[in-house]
Amino acid sequence: MTEFPMTIGGHSTAAASTFDVVNPATGEVVGAAPDATEVELDQAMRAAQDAWASWRGDVGVRRAALHAIADLLGQHKDELTGLLTAEQGKPLHEADEEIRDSQAWLRYYAELDDPVVVLQDDDRARIEVRRRPLGVVAAITPWNYPVTLASWKFGPALLAGNTVVLKPSPFTPLATLRLGQLANQVLPPGVLNVVSGQDHLGPLITRHPVPRKISFTGSVATGKHVAASAADDLKRITLELGGNDPAIVLDDVDVQSVAESIFWRAFENNGQVCSAIKRVYAPEPLYDDLVEALAAIARTATVGNGALPGTQLGPINNRPQLTRVSSLVAEALSQGAKAAAGGSPIEGAGYFFEPTILRDAQPGMRIVDEEQFGPVLPVIRYADVAEVVADVNGSPYGLCGSVWSADEERAAAIAETLDVGTAWTNTHLAFQPDQPFGGAKWSGIGVENGVWGLHGFSDVQVIHRARR
Ligand code: NAD
Repeated sequence: MTEFPMTIGGHSTAAASTFDVVNPATGEVVGAAPDATEVELDQAMRAAQDAWASWRGDVGVRRAALHAIADLLGQHKDELTGLLTAEQGKPLHEADEEIRDSQAWLRYYAELDDPVVVLQDDDRARIEVRRRPLGVVAAITPWNYPVTLASWKFGPALLAGNTVVLKPSPFTPLATLRLGQLANQVLPPGVLNVVSGQDHLGPLITRHPVPRKISFTGSVATGKHVAASAADDLKRITLELGGNDPAIVLDDVDVQSVAESIFWRAFENNGQVCSAIKRVYAPEPLYDDLVEALAAIARTATVGNGALPGTQLGPINNRPQLTRVSSLVAEALSQGAKAAAGGSPIEGAGYFFEPTILRDAQPGMRIVDEEQFGPVLPVIRYADVAEVVADVNGSPYGLCGSVWSADEERAAAIAETLDVGTAWTNTHLAFQPDQPFGGAKWSGIGVENGVWGLHGFSDVQVIHRARR
């Protein structure tokens, strides 16, 4: 059994009690994490605050540190990958990709230049627009991509000159705790603190007086609590929340190749991706063929323990989420949807659900209107693409969407009308460090990544030198 301490002020720190972490593929306990109380949290916040004064001074030191952390992730990739698969469930090759992505993001930020903007420099005045770090940033992450999403936060937060207190989900704390230990080999004490705890800990963080910013990734429901709590003393917030991304297929596509692309962008990490495709709109003439092509892939996908070679789809991460997915599917089937593939939980140890393609799904069913966050894809028939756009834009979600067509311009013209943070044509889930990512409406506030993400970790500061 793996047990990692928290890292607070550069020191390995335990708590009076621990909580178990379960491998979702087996139901067995794979590790334990410290269950921090207000006492340890307060130590972490004070350590971060104390470290800020010198950390904000030299950007060269910060750049070198981010590269050094990326190096350490590479040196410990096998260990981190194994931990991720054990606690999260994803196949080893996806865990490996998660660590490599984290390295890429840290290296991008290590090199990113964000120069001072000079508005005026003459005999009347010199006016500069600069960015000023905020202080202590609290970073709160969900259970689907613990290491990548942590890197999206602490990378730019540290580059901007802030110090950080990072809290992973209680379902997946282990790789993040290990990351904290590794990063503290190269960071000054207190610059990056990692704390873990059960449900009580998040609200203690958001109402703590020290952090000036909460960078949160998680569900819409929790995001609203975070926003309300942060409002009390006007903490800055970035919220990356849930999505219900549509893929809108036009009538000129090659069905087989589009089905293959859509399937894997819906079922990556077993559908547990905020911006996975969560509903497909298919035109009437292609409907049956597309459903069948998707179902054929679902029937042959290899489901199993992510630690075994050849596994393509792992388990659902936790029992509450398995229960939710099961009930959404059962309800849709009772309302007239039909399972073209799958449709049921898989009996046995672990939290497995059959890869499921639902035909005859319709708006009004919760599986279409809400975020399922699991290995289930509803396919909705349409006659008029304008009605699809109206349906998509009528959703409270607005994370991402995609339009699929043989004609890029035709697809782009529709993509531009979607009220979402990212609209792709002929792809989905395409991210890179310099491309901003954020959601419209309930899917979030603010963005991560790129220079826009970096700006979320600083305030504008004007230096105006009057000359006459
Ligand atoms: P969650 O909201 O249950 O938990 C997220 C984090 O918040 C966890 O660390 C949790 O311990 C903490 N938390 C819980 N209650 C809190 C509170 N009251 N105050 C502060 N923190 C609190 O989400 P989850 O189930 O871990 O993750 C799945 C959700 O995350 C999905 O909705 C998914 O779409 C979303 N997500 C969004 C993005 C994005 O970038 N938009 C990325 C990944 C996941």
